[in-house]
Amino acid sequence: MERITHTQVVYAMSRENVPVAEVASGSDVCFETCDCFSDQIASEQATFTALDWGRINPATGPVYVKDAQPGDLLRVEIKRITPRSKQAVMVTAPGLGVIGDQLQQPQIRIVPLEADHALLPGGVRWPLKPMIGVIGVAPAGEPVPCGTPDAHGGNMDCKIITEGCVLWLPVNVSGALFALGDLHAAMGDGEVSVCGLEIPGEVVVNLQVIKQRQLPTPMVTTADTIYTLASALTLDEAAQLATRNMAQFVADNSELTLADAINLLSITGDLQICQVVDPLKTCRFSLPRSVAAQLNIQLD
Ligand code: CA
Ligand code: CA
Repeated sequence: MERITHTQVVYAMSRENVPVAEVASGSDVCFETCDCFSDQIASEQATFTALDWGRINPATGPVYVKDAQPGDLLRVEIKRITPRSKQAVMVTAPGLGVIGDQLQQPQIRIVPLEADHALLPGGVRWPLKPMIGVIGVAPAGEPVPCGTPDAHGGNMDCKIITEGCVLWLPVNVSGALFALGDLHAAMGDGEVSVCGLEIPGEVVVNLQVIKQRQLPTPMVTTADTIYTLASALTLDEAAQLATRNMAQFVADNSELTLADAINLLSITGDLQICQVVDPLKTCRFSLPRSVAAQLNIQLD
């Protein structure tokens, strides 16, 4: 299996990035990742203002997937996420996150991780559910910093992107140029402080090119749910786009009219927030597979 080391990183998703490896469609690839601060913070005594903010949100890669051409889909199965630290980093500061305006000074918090749970402030035990914050492909146009989510994926900070799920991305450039980073040992919807439990780690994915299939990407599928993901400048716009994409997906893949697809989503679907703290906000719309199955909608 190809292994991409944590020294092979990019800070923007770009068609100009030079691939660090080339793999055949259907390959498993292992990505070593730094945490979102490029592992600069080892203790609570680290100086916030001394951090190199030019090295935030590194993504490991990019990997060139043979046969991937614009218009194809890249099917990314998240096979394994392995944290590589006994502690996670959290940062709060004035101006960061949803209520950073109420903070007077920056704070760095080191959160101990045990086998299956984190020890949060106040001694609260919380189960680990490692997820991937930054994951995507090169956009067709201008480079997008790894801190920004959009139609190419990127910093979606979606807690559903975890072991066992499948992420569906567009292929915008030859080879797709896939990269990932920014692991969180756990995170809540919204990511309200501006970070999750930030950790370095290792991710094994299977990368497969899908020809001749149209989907309103990015999408995520799990054992029991199908999701559309959408990012936009405002939460309202992101909510509308995620909903519109799912309604269109249902209408395109069933006998339902768009009006009845909307009726169906209004009852059986859930509009949810991924994050509200990145340059674009991200929402997702969930549809139970049990509903999709009754409409003969197939998506593995
Ligand atoms: Ca992130
Ligand atoms: Ca993060």
